[in-house]
Amino acid sequence: MNLVRVALDVPLATLFDYLLPEAIEAQCGDRVVVPFGTRSRVGIAVETGLESALAAEKLKSVTRVLHDAPRLSCAWLDFMRFLASYYQRPLGETLVHALPPRLRSLKPLPRQIRQADPLPPSGTRFVSEHVLTEAQANAVDRMRSRLGHFDAFLLHGVTGSGKTEVYLRLIAEVLARGAQALVLVPEIGLTPQLEARVRNAFPQTHIAVLHSGLEELPRTAAWLSAARGDAGIVLGTRLAVLAPLPRLGLVVVDEEHDTSFKQHDGLRYSARDAAVARAKLAACPVVLGTATPSLESWHNGLAGRYQAIAIPQRAVPGSRMPQIRTVDLRAEPHEHGLARCVFEAIGQRLARREQSLVFINRRGYAPVLACEACGWAAGCERCSARLVLHAADRRLRCHHCGDEAPIPHACPTCGNVDLRAIGRGTQRVEETLGAVFAQARVLRIDRDSTRRRHELARTLEGIQRGEGDILVGTQLLAKGHDFPDLTLVCVLNADSALFSTDYRAAERLFATLVQVSGRAGRREQPGEVLVQTRFPDHPLFAALARHDYAGFAAAQLAERKAAGFPPFVFEAALRAEARKLEAALEFLRAAARAVPAGEEVLVYDPVPHVITRRAGAERAQLLMQSAQRPALQEYLRSLSEHLYGVRARGVRWHLEVDPIEFD
Ligand code: ADP
Ligand code: ZN
Ligand code: ZN
Repeated sequence: MNLVRVALDVPLATLFDYLLPEAIEAQCGDRVVVPFGTRSRVGIAVETGLESALAAEKLKSVTRVLHDAPRLSCAWLDFMRFLASYYQRPLGETLVHALPPRLRSLKPLPRQIRQADPLPPSGTRFVSEHVLTEAQANAVDRMRSRLGHFDAFLLHGVTGSGKTEVYLRLIAEVLARGAQALVLVPEIGLTPQLEARVRNAFPQTHIAVLHSGLEELPRTAAWLSAARGDAGIVLGTRLAVLAPLPRLGLVVVDEEHDTSFKQHDGLRYSARDAAVARAKLAACPVVLGTATPSLESWHNGLAGRYQAIAIPQRAVPGSRMPQIRTVDLRAEPHEHGLARCVFEAIGQRLARREQSLVFINRRGYAPVLACEACGWAAGCERCSARLVLHAADRRLRCHHCGDEAPIPHACPTCGNVDLRAIGRGTQRVEETLGAVFAQARVLRIDRDSTRRRHELARTLEGIQRGEGDILVGTQLLAKGHDFPDLTLVCVLNADSALFSTDYRAAERLFATLVQVSGRAGRREQPGEVLVQTRFPDHPLFAALARHDYAGFAAAQLAERKAAGFPPFVFEAALRAEARKLEAALEFLRAAARAVPAGEEVLVYDPVPHVITRRAGAERAQLLMQSAQRPALQEYLRSLSEHLYGVRARGVRWHLEVDPIEFD
């Protein structure tokens, strides 16, 4: 009797053996329907033709094989095995989660998707209006020469240096060779321009767009066209790295430093790191593009593991890098959180009909609502965090768990009716600017102003056409947008990140400031950036003003090396949450006791998270470090083997490999 081993999406680190009836033929990579417990499930056959340790009469049989989608390839299965083992997750969970939800369900695909009628052959015509600059041409030449081989390139190009144009040329080469290109971007909704540019550059090519915001059927259809090889270009967010691509010839990760490439639940993978592994398996180049490389990638470049290629100048003729200055809040008169010279600079832009961008990385009206009489401050009942005041709809909101409450009329402890909004967020700045510049169109862009994806895309397109005189916004405005009329950027609350306990805060702040500064002066009109601070002499601002990423990175890497932080060591975290903090801590202690580490792995004592309580759960974590990746991986394997075996009553846990956030 034939046996087949099946990966199922169950929270167990095992695979399951089934009998294969004579009449059914199944191979590796087939989606199969099997009985499991009391119901049927969709699994993936990962091994065939084997002997089972269990007696045949104890085994159940495969019910049927699903043929409505193409069989998953061995190459893809290998990539999934790599991810499961690297991130310490069961293969079944990894595999099944990589499928679009519709392919995990028993519901058959509708005909229009299922029919594998090959699309009309996808053309490769490439259209570009630009003649490459010398640096662009050099970058293209170096990478083109490696097509057909694995190599990791770190394309370090300043904002506006024309990195996209470089990607497009390479993609043209790849398509001409009959291969597929995978392009990963942080968030599609934020970069509608990019999708349009790709479509315009390849008017005949079939392009599959993949992100989690798609409806079920379009998402399944896009995934299938990638998997069948119909799509010449697959453009998507982090989950696109998991799609099967039978003819993969190039991987591009745009804005590789962006933290949204990291998945924060389930298979906690970094799409950037997965992209490199994938390119290696497919023997094709991977391009990591950014103006502000992650220190991990920069370090890999310095060590020669990645080929670093620089584009130090902007591409548009006549466009220069913006001039960046700090505004000393201790010396400059300021009102409502804005320095006088900032008001003046905005006024000048209004007179010249140019746009200004005011950046404040905090949404809402004010981060704290407090009583000055007794010291009470509105806090979330389910989290160890303050509630943020949202004046527009008169609510208090927790930005950690989403809980809401009405604004109280009086202090709940002392009855004082004069509650104060302390500090400011985007809404308050919008209000101030609207009052001072009554004739100007002030546009606020944050998660609250644009709840829906297409709304944001439309607003961004409007700004590009010149709508809005003053833009107030968060990170959302800092990403790769190209706003031709924008010449001034003002940064309001950069200081808090300067002295954070999180050693990655400086790296993130620098990247954000470079990105947001990069929105200024992208055409002939020069750009100006004003950074309000109480620490104008801080070296981070000095490096920013010099446009000196390399200098900043060198200083950071020296600090990290001295302190023994990544990228000089590798890290993993075991995290636990429970109703009582002590239960979470004890779970972690027990795990560390049960699986002793060798010399090469350092296991710290468990500690509560900085924001200990979130959504009603008390959270703690245990950090593990090693200078040797294989030693850490080996330890994690033993640890997870142990953890999948223990009964964790009332405790939820997960392992995170290469964690980047510790809140
Ligand atoms: P980046 O992604 O590096 O920030 P983009 O690819 O968005 O830069 O390019 C910035 C601007 O420069 C775009 O408007 C683009 O059309 C333009 N551009 C790119 N390459 C060239 C070139 N070789 N000559 C002129 N303009 C260019
Ligand atoms: Zn009070
Ligand atoms: Zn909360």
